[in-house]
Amino acid sequence: MAVREIITPKNPILRKKARKVTNFDDPKLQALIDDMVETLFDAPGVGLAAPQVAVSQRVIVVYLPDDEESREEYGQDAGVLHILVNPEIVRASRDMVDGVEACLSIPGYYGSVDRHAAVTVQGYDRHGRQVRIKARDWLARVFQHEIDHLDGILFIDRASEIWRAVPQDEAETFDDPLAGEVTVIESEAEAGE
Ligand SMILES: [Zn+2]
Repeated sequence: MAVREIITPKNPILRKKARKVTNFDDPKLQALIDDMVETLFDAPGVGLAAPQVAVSQRVIVVYLPDDEESREEYGQDAGVLHILVNPEIVRASRDMVDGVEACLSIPGYYGSVDRHAAVTVQGYDRHGRQVRIKARDWLARVFQHEIDHLDGILFIDRASEIWRAVPQDEAETFDDPLAGEVTVIESEAEAGE
């Protein structure tokens, strides 16, 4: 297992529609999944899609942490690792919720994004067995964000507002992943995380 480099929008792979996985026995797929899990935990983040590590395939990993605070916030969704291949949203609630999102590929930026409050996701596990997950609240949001990545869609495309919050200790070395590509409503020197 290895931590892979997370790419930013400067790399066009992030904007490509990713290919479906067809061969589950491919050792490269299994290595990719192991590396994605390690990269997600290392970051750390709550979700990662294969295009973010420069592999244009339909694979996502999702993990809400299971510390005490997260357990309170996410309930039984905390601490469950989801590995999904060729995931699709097969059902989405009509009600939408607004929430603040960030992305490992767009460090230093936050956005306000409307998402379905609940979704049903269908796909395959790493061995090609079909799985179906009903997700609500934050988990539903993370699935929508990650599945968007598979179609080259980033949260900044859907955000009603975008703002920049670079941690003070990183301000000098901050390499802007967007470099003026979006309209930022405010710029803060402190992290909002
Ligand atoms: Zn993302």
